[in-house]
Parts: sequence; structure tokens; C-alpha cells
Amino acid sequence: MHRRVSVLGATGSVGSSTLALMDEAERAGTARFTVAALTGGRNIERLAEAARRWRPELVVTAWPELKSDLEDALAGSGIPVAAGESALIEAALRPADWIMAAIVGVAGLKSTWAAAGTGAIVGLANKESLVCCGPALMARATTAGGRILPVDSEHSAIYQVFPHDHPEGVRRLVLTASGGPFRQTPAAELARVTPERAVAHPNWSMGAKISVDSATMANKGLEMIEAAYLFGMPADRIDVVVHPESVIHSMVEYVDGSTLAQMGPPDMKTPIACALAWPDRLSWPAPRLDLAAMGQLTFEAPDPVRFPALRLAREALEAGGGAPTIFNAANEVAALAFLDRRLAFLNIAAVIAETLERMVKTGADSDFDDACAGALALDAHARRVAIEIVGDLALAA
Ligand code: NAD
Ligand code: MG
Repeated sequence: MHRRVSVLGATGSVGSSTLALMDEAERAGTARFTVAALTGGRNIERLAEAARRWRPELVVTAWPELKSDLEDALAGSGIPVAAGESALIEAALRPADWIMAAIVGVAGLKSTWAAAGTGAIVGLANKESLVCCGPALMARATTAGGRILPVDSEHSAIYQVFPHDHPEGVRRLVLTASGGPFRQTPAAELARVTPERAVAHPNWSMGAKISVDSATMANKGLEMIEAAYLFGMPADRIDVVVHPESVIHSMVEYVDGSTLAQMGPPDMKTPIACALAWPDRLSWPAPRLDLAAMGQLTFEAPDPVRFPALRLAREALEAGGGAPTIFNAANEVAALAFLDRRLAFLNIAAVIAETLERMVKTGADSDFDDACAGALALDAHARRVAIEIVGDLALAA
């Protein structure tokens, strides 16, 4: 297998796993890769290291003020360097067979949107762009002759067991959730938890923002919206079950009573490999599942009282229009404020609820022709509202 790939967000958790997987597959002699573009953020050392290994045609840092650092780090290599937002788009537009969209948050929307318009296969980790632009993003990829392949482990699982040619056979989708680091933490203690505790996930090693999302279960809410758009399924046919071992990554229940589940060790390289080689399978030295050693798999219902973000996401999906974009913007603002110690953990959901309340009920929505521009405008508006609410809650505390 030979693929020409670009990795947007190459220095993050998913981006690094993508490059590590490619490296392992090349060493195993099962695949070869040519790299068109790599992008990163502030971690110039890691970006330069990846660029030296893969020799991309273009390497981009999102921050213009760091361009000269990147040039210094790559001095003598001959690898073209660029910086800033337009350079990120240029990286996304480079001809490639496969583009990994692994920037975190709405910051990844423009480049994911650009990538989807090229006709390449987009490996989608940047779930926030699908939450904000779902149907339009899917349509854009199809119109351009490409497609979106989910990298999020739950959606990769569903993609693998979904009857793509006979979707009428599906009764519901069941997303599994690990429950995060606070699955068993009493409500009273949740009020005092620190960012350090929130990012210490029991099963997965991830970036800071998605780790907080996992702790609040806003991540599962975003994933419910993501699943609705990827698989054309309404909110009332998507359920969530907590499965602390993270071995079953999600399930499809069929109308005849059959349920198909996909399993694997909790390692993002497996869903990345699935998207990278689809419909083929990439052979790499993957960790193996040892069910006998695990002994048992357990399941429980999510607790709607301690984790209200899940209900808020469902309501946003049901409300439709710009509500998922507002949910996402408020969650990003609140999660970052919590990481900065400006907001208490339990107030993350309070900020989401209040932002939705103020904006959805006043009918705020976007009426742009281009869904990406419309989502960005609505996102900016929702952020202003959410920032104000964060300020009010901080003053009240
Ligand atoms: P991360 O924080 O580890 O990495 C984020 C990447 O985005 C980095 O390369 C960073 O440089 C870049 N970035 C950050 N801000 C940017 C900006 N303003 N402009 C351009 N680039 C910017 O995040 P992650 O955990 O790898 O997650 C990436 C995406 O994948 C998220 O949408 C997340 O929800 C999703 N995801 C992650 C995992 C996981 O295991 N980490 C699993 C499923 C889905
Ligand atoms: Mg996931």
C-alpha cells in the first residue's frame, strides 16, 4: 500500500499517533507513505522532528510569530516552511490521497472544510468540525469525490459494523463511554476536582481539551451529534452505555434483534489504521486483545445528574439548526476556562446550559450561504456569550 498523506495537527495526540503508526507500518514493510503537508502549533521541536522524519513538501505552524523558530529548527533541511491561517489552508489543499484532520476544536474547522473539498479521503478526528457543519461537511466531501472516514474510536467501530448498503436494517446505534476519570466520584467532590485530576484518563492518553470533555461526558455528547451526522440517525435512535474497560468501542443494533459490536484495545492507532487503509486492512504490530486476561467486561447506564452535558448535547441535537454549534462553542470556552482554573468543574455544564438558553431561545441562528462561514460566525457569537457567563460565574464564586 502506498498513500500520499497530509496530517493537520501532526504534533497532537492523534497526529503523533498517526505518524507513529505510519512509521511502524513502514518498518513492518506493509505500507509506504509520501507526506504532502504537516501542520502543528506551538510545539516547534516536535513539528520539526516530524518534518525531518517525513520530509513533507510543506510544514506549517499555526502561529506566525513562531515561523522563524520553525525555520531555524529546519535550517539546512530544504523543507519549505510557512505559518498562519492561510498557510494551514494551503496545507489542507495540497494534493493528497488521505488527509488526517486532527486539529483540536473549532480551530480545525476551516482546514477540515478545505480538505473535504479536495476530493481526498479525510480521516476525521476533529469531531468539532462535524458537530458545527455536519450535513454540509459530509455533502462537501461526497460532491468533491472524496469521503469522510471517522477516526473517533466509537464512530470507527460503528462504521465497521454498519450496513452501509442497507441502513434500513438498523434500529439504533449504541455508543460506549468509558465514564472518564470521575465515573465513581460523588457529586459533592466533583465541585472541587482539579484540571490535573480531570486530564488523568483511566484508559486513553489524549490531548487536554478532549480529556476534560471526557471527564464531563461532553465528549460523548459531541460524539452523539457526530454519529447522527455520519450515519444519518436521529437523536432518539442513538444511546450511550458506560463501559469502563473501553474494549467494545460501540455497537449497531439491528431491527431483527442482532447487535454487532467492534472490539479492540484502547489504542487510537487501530481506528487510525482502519481509516488509513479502508476498505483494506493495514497490517502493523498492533497490540492484541486478550479477553481471557481481562476476565470480564462491564456496563452501566450514564448518570444524568452528575453528567448533565450528555443531556444538553441530546437537546441541542434535537433542537437542530445552530444549537450543536452553540453547544460546542460554549463547551470549548468552559473547558478551557476550567483548564485555566477560572471555572469550577461543575460549572462547565452550567455554562453550556446557560449559553444554549440565551441563544437558542432568542432564536439566534446563522443565515450564511457557506455553511463553514455561517458556523464560524455563530461560533464566535456563542463564544462571546459563553465568555460573559464564565465571567459572571467566576465573580459569583
Ligand atoms: P491535542 O491537543 O493533543 O492536539 C491538537 C493539535 O491541534 C496539535 O497539533 C496542535 O498544534 C493543533 N492546534 C491546536 N490549536 C490550534 C490552532 N488554533 N490552529 C491550528 N492548529 C492548532 O488534541 P488531540 O487529543 O490529538 O485531539 C485532536 C482532535 O481529535 C480533537 O478534535 C479531539 O476531539 C479528537 N479526538 C482525539 C482523540 C484522542 O485520543 N486524543 C480521540 C478521538 C478524537
Ligand atoms: Mg471517542
